[in-house]
Formats: sequence, C-alpha cells, structure tokens
Amino acid sequence: MIPDTPILMQQYRALLEFLPEQHLEYPNIINHFRRQDAGQAGEDSLTYYLDQAQVPSLTCLKRLRLEHNSSFQLDWLILGLGFRVIFEVKSHTGEIYFDAKSRQLTRILDGIKEGFDDPILQVDRQYANLRAYCIAYNIDQLPTYRFVVFVNPNAILRLHDYPEYKRILTSQRVPSILESLAEKHPPIISEEENQQIEHFLVENHRERAISILEKHAILWDDLHKGLPCPTCNKRPMRRERMRWQCAFCGTRSTDAHHKVLYQIALLANNRLTKQLAQDMLQMSSPEATRKLITRAGYIKFGVKKGAYYSHPDILAVTKNRSGHKTRKSGHKSIKSGHKA
Ligand SMILES: [Zn+2]
Repeated sequence: MIPDTPILMQQYRALLEFLPEQHLEYPNIINHFRRQDAGQAGEDSLTYYLDQAQVPSLTCLKRLRLEHNSSFQLDWLILGLGFRVIFEVKSHTGEIYFDAKSRQLTRILDGIKEGFDDPILQVDRQYANLRAYCIAYNIDQLPTYRFVVFVNPNAILRLHDYPEYKRILTSQRVPSILESLAEKHPPIISEEENQQIEHFLVENHRERAISILEKHAILWDDLHKGLPCPTCNKRPMRRERMRWQCAFCGTRSTDAHHKVLYQIALLANNRLTKQLAQDMLQMSSPEATRKLITRAGYIKFGVKKGAYYSHPDILAVTKNRSGHKTRKSGHKSIKSGHKA
C-alpha cells in the first residue's frame, strides 16, 4: 500500500498539533511542513493530466519508494505494456534557465538567482536504481523513459540551450507524450503480468519515517499534553466512566483517543509505550492506558520494561521484510532484449 499522505508528512502534521506555537522550533517545523505540502500538491496535480492520456492499460504509481541497497523514490512511475516512464515532478515557480557556464539549472524569482540540482541527473539516477531493483527481483525490463515535469503554471522555462531540453516538460504535454510512446511501443507483456508487477512494487513500497523529535531536538515535555476535544479543540478532555468528557463545551466521546494515540505513535517512530501514552493522555491508571492501546488495535512487541506498541497501518508501510527475494515463482520471464 502507498498511503495517500506520506508518513513523513503525517509526522510533521502531528508535530504541529502538539507543539506550542511559541516553541523556538515551531517556525522551522511549519516550513518543513509547507515545503512537503507544496511538493505533494505538485505531484498530485499530475493526476489530472495522466488521466487525460488516451492509452489503455496504463498503471500509474504515485510516490513509490523502494529499498534496495539504498532507498529511492519515484514521483510517478507509469507502467505500460510496452514501455515505462518515470516522471520527476518539480513545483518551482519563476524563470528557469540553463546556465551554460556553470552547467547548472538556475531560477530567478523576485530578482534572486539560485541554482538547483539538475533534475534530469536526478531522474536518471532513479532509473539506474529502478533498473538494479528490477534485475534483483526478476522483474521484466521494458524501455523506460525519464522526464522532468514542471507542474507550476507560473514557471517560465527558458531551456532551449539545455542539452536535455526534450526531456523537460510542462504538465500539459504529459498526455501527448504518453500517447506517442504507446504508439511507438506495442505491448510486450500482458495486462496480467503488468498487474503482477504493480502488485509486487506496491507491496514492497517502503515509507520514509524519521525520529522527528530527535531530528528537531524537541522533548516530549515541550509538547501539549492531554486529549484535545474533537469539537472545540481545547485540552484536556477528562476520562470519566469509560468516556472522554470536555469540560469546556460538554462534548462526550468514546473514541477521541484513537487519533491522538496514532499521532503519538507517529512522533515515537511507531514505538508507543504505556508510560508515554499515559503521560500524553494524562491518564491516571497504567492499566486503563494499556487497555485503550490494545483495544485500539495496536500490536505489542517486547516484554516488561521493553514492551512497546505499534500501529499496524504504520508498520505495514515502514517495516523491512527480509527474505522476500524473488518476485513470483512460476512467472514466465519475457526476454524482449529491449534496453532503455
Ligand atoms: Zn470541547
């Protein structure tokens, strides 16, 4: 499963809900969040143009991240029956041009000039990683094209002297590019085989998660404690007779802790301990806390003092699976001889 909202993004969103606005690190966290949000919105915006392509049997995977030796993420991977495409999405605004002297892509925005990493080198590197991955897991190779798509309509591309300008697109060109590639490359694999490959890749998708508090040198004690009311957002709700009760607006809830436990799990690298949950929810009883956690479907690992609980949804997209070496036994391998 590839979650619609990346775990890293969920981590920053959760942190923003717990971190007091006057905390020194707050502006930095907001910046991180906004940058990711803009990047994600840019990637999402390509969905519309991919849907416009008149090509049957195209599978489009958004934000696939794989681990093999090192990890790599593809903004979009398009799986056709006779070809594949990797799209690297850029949300830059401003005037983008190629500085032949420094051999660097440069953008000018509000009079400020700044260079940025060549996205073509980036997408070619991703392809090299994908290729190694396909070889390692016995996935059929197909001609694979790589493009960089500038999705922001406010970007002005001045790249005529950029050697790779043909591989730099705006969103509007995406449908026709896919249509012409489909014309050029008739099917080599069957739809069923393509689905198997899609299934395998999605199954092996690994989300990036970080120790977010450590990274930003934030302590648990810096964070708001107590359960916020789902109606008025004030803290803390009181636990009374197996229910949460808001003293400010009178809201009662039986499951308001689910969201907060999930957020704490995100901040704790999916290692939620009873003590941590008890402290963050301001519960009086360790035993009642333990019941809340287990009834919310968390999986327990370890024993006694080393025990911790993990949310199964986070676990499913972040854990490393070892011993999963081959794609599928009995699979008919297609030797097409194509190299892209
Ligand atoms: Zn309330």
